[in-house]
Amino acid sequence: MAYAYDTNNIFARILRGEIPCNKLLETEHSLAFHDIRPQAPHHVLVIPKGPYVTFDHFALEASDAEKADFITAIGRVCKELGVQPGEGGAGYRAISNAGNDGVQEVPHLHVHILGGRVLGRMLERAG
Ligand code: 5GP
Repeated sequence: MAYAYDTNNIFARILRGEIPCNKLLETEHSLAFHDIRPQAPHHVLVIPKGPYVTFDHFALEASDAEKADFITAIGRVCKELGVQPGEGGAGYRAISNAGNDGVQEVPHLHVHILGGRVLGRMLERAG
């Protein structure tokens, strides 16, 4: 089954400039902006500009240029936030929720970069 992309999702509208965002950085193929409901002192969303629904969609169908740009943008966001453990930062968490079980709210691929406090264990309960 093909991936169905909803061109009216909120991040598509941000990319078209129809609604504003608090932008951290923009590259040829990616955009990073602050989450409107931050879950930690640092909470940035990194999205590709292309119409990809989930991480697996992007991994399977994006071009090498889009992939390189997206991964680099994530690294640049971590650097900008000063959270890189290897560079004296205190660390961060990168999360991408997908589909129903992943409890994805916005159907446009985004990686959450969370940091600025100890984030606790990844999941609250097992099983
Ligand atoms: P998901 O649950 O899909 O992984 O996360 C979607 C995220 O998008 C949530 O953390 C939510 O706060 C954020 N979000 C939803 N609408 C907007 C918006 O209009 N602007 C920004 N900056 N973030 C949004």
